[in-house]
Amino acid sequence: MVRPSISFEFFPPKNEKMADILWNAVPDLASYGPEYMTVTYGAGGTTSDGTVETLQKMMAENPDIPLASHFTFINATKDELKAYTDRLWDMGVRHIVALRGDMPADADVQWPLDNDDRYFQYTSDFVEGLKGWHDFEISVGCYPEKHPDADSLDADIQALKLKCDAGASRAITQFFFDNEDYYRFADACRKAGIETPMCPGLLPIHDFKSMTKFAKRCQANVPGWLHEKFAGLENSPEDAQKVATDLLILQAEDLAANGVDHFHFYTLNKGAITAEACEALGYKAKAA
Ligand code: FAD
Repeated sequence: MVRPSISFEFFPPKNEKMADILWNAVPDLASYGPEYMTVTYGAGGTTSDGTVETLQKMMAENPDIPLASHFTFINATKDELKAYTDRLWDMGVRHIVALRGDMPADADVQWPLDNDDRYFQYTSDFVEGLKGWHDFEISVGCYPEKHPDADSLDADIQALKLKCDAGASRAITQFFFDNEDYYRFADACRKAGIETPMCPGLLPIHDFKSMTKFAKRCQANVPGWLHEKFAGLENSPEDAQKVATDLLILQAEDLAANGVDHFHFYTLNKGAITAEACEALGYKAKAA
């Protein structure tokens, strides 16, 4: 069996302490030879400078690893979006993870807007726009358990199809813990005529309690068996880390055994669990 390729997601650090954590993790994880690494983008441009600065430093330190910028279109005009893509293109970034983003829950504007040509309305329009501006490789997001805003999984799959038809060449999934959800979703996408490669997004559990809060916001299921695994480990970080690492390894092994050929790790800027899982899955770290 060919070992799946891997990629890593990071986010721009908000302060010096977080920057130290990130810049410790990056070289460790980069040494496993990812196909690409990505940096997230705060919806509405809240991190655009931080995203660019993080990409620039990553690029300087890892000139051989392609980088992707996540990029969201809500609450930004097409002109503003184009200016950011020009900046990325001039830096040498050739891959965008194109997303809608979310407005804050209490905002009085939500997407799609009514017929305002200055803005993109749907991610598929955004993908088409990006492709028209520069010849970027485009990845998009997808949701094995349905996007929280979608009326049905079928509607969401149709939205994914539009994004792929508009030029996306890869779909990266929201994290999930029950692989059956992923298999069902991938099968339904194939039946809907989506041939674009799909990459499972895997979330190492660094802190079970905060993960459950985040999962609630994303409407990602945290199965009962997962709660049981972490029960009683609230004050035993080492035991919790061991459980999280073993779970990540098992999840990846099962996906690989079922034909998955790429894993995208949501590293949360921390190296340990992801690196240990990579090691156990047979990826070899190259010496710096
Ligand atoms: P979309 O495809 O835009 O779907 C959102 C909703 O709109 C769904 O209900 C869908 O069914 C519907 N829809 C889409 N197109 C159509 C259409 N043409 N007609 C009718 N309905 C439609 N957020 C950030 O702010 N920054 C990040 O860096 C970031 N990175 C992410 C990375 C990944 C891999 C994933 C999966 C998500 C990421 N997100 C990020 C979160 C994302 O921005 C939110 O989940 C957002 O709500 C949806 O964006 P989307 O482009 O994935 O979804």
